[in-house]
Amino acid sequence: MTPSPPASTPASSLEGAPLAPLADPFARRITYLRVSVTDRCDFRCVYCMSEDMTFLPKRDLLTLEELERVCGAFVRLGVRKLRLTGGEPLVRRNVIALFRGLGRHLASGALDELTLTTNGSQLARFAADLFAAGVRRVNVSLDTLDPAKFAAITRWGKFEQVMAGIRAAKAAGMAIKLNAVALRGVNEDEFDRMIAFCGEEGFDLCLIEVMPMGDIGGESRLDQYLPLSLVRARLGERWTLAETDYRTGGPARYVVVKETGRRLGFITPLTHNFCESCNRVRLTCTGTLYMCLGQEDAADLRAPVRASEADDLLIAAIREAIARKPRGHDFVIDRRHHRPALSRHMSVTGG
Ligand code: SAM
Ligand code: SF4
Repeated sequence: MTPSPPASTPASSLEGAPLAPLADPFARRITYLRVSVTDRCDFRCVYCMSEDMTFLPKRDLLTLEELERVCGAFVRLGVRKLRLTGGEPLVRRNVIALFRGLGRHLASGALDELTLTTNGSQLARFAADLFAAGVRRVNVSLDTLDPAKFAAITRWGKFEQVMAGIRAAKAAGMAIKLNAVALRGVNEDEFDRMIAFCGEEGFDLCLIEVMPMGDIGGESRLDQYLPLSLVRARLGERWTLAETDYRTGGPARYVVVKETGRRLGFITPLTHNFCESCNRVRLTCTGTLYMCLGQEDAADLRAPVRASEADDLLIAAIREAIARKPRGHDFVIDRRHHRPALSRHMSVTGG
């Protein structure tokens, strides 16, 4: 266990020193922070946002320096893994400076991993810089290998640009996992091809069930919903899926595809199969901390960050928030009203 500073020494005079690690009321250690660095995006994926999505005013956002400070506080409190997401993290201006700043915690040994989830559109531009900042793995969201379907799903995305980004990340030396949202009648006939593609390229693949988050305009989540239990059963007829105990503390269950040797994950957040091992919390770009992806309860960290240059208030606010982390979530797609179970969009908390 990491020692806490002596009671007589104020935390502010020990800037950067490790503190007693975070644990929630159910004795789960919080070691993973996901940070949505912007709610903006250069795509408009049909399951994520409506085409005329309204974004937050820029003045509400934490600056990159403030984001770095909050992340630094979490690292002092025992967080070992940081994932930057969004919105699209790589469209935030100068976000590489944030990666570089956070990369210093890797160098000091305080952090095990700095990574990101991206739609890949800007990866060709940033892959080398990300690697230099210490990023060794990247999750790229890609729901289809068909350029026409890709255009239909993302509305604004350019397939070739994303493929170039993926190639650049691979060439830079990063391990790649593709994330694909399973969409009924849209990409369900493509998973065999995607498994084969990932096998050839040396990528892992994760399939994600549609989550009922945020209003998405005219589209219906019920029409999009494809249970992964069904997908897995179908894939099992074609591939040898070997159970593995590989876990990340999140909602993914992994198997190894024997024929390719690559991991295949299934993220099924609508089932309660992961809350007991949950090790994560989520920070939005406005400094709101969500203790559970499936609950509305949140804590404001922007006020304590701005109230003082020392981290004491911030650290107290984080501890108070973690003390309220709920046991689990209650996602459900509201079948009668077709309403999202949670009003906030995935692009707010980054999934
Ligand atoms: N823009 C980046 C990207 O697409 O990778 C990062 C943010 S995006 C919100 C993170 C992940 O959430 C993506 O893999 C995306 O496919 C997924 N996602 C978005 N809305 C979702 C929903 N309603 N249900 C399930 N997954 C969703
Ligand atoms: Fe943008 Fe990612 Fe949402 Fe697609 S899933 S609209 S790329 S934030």
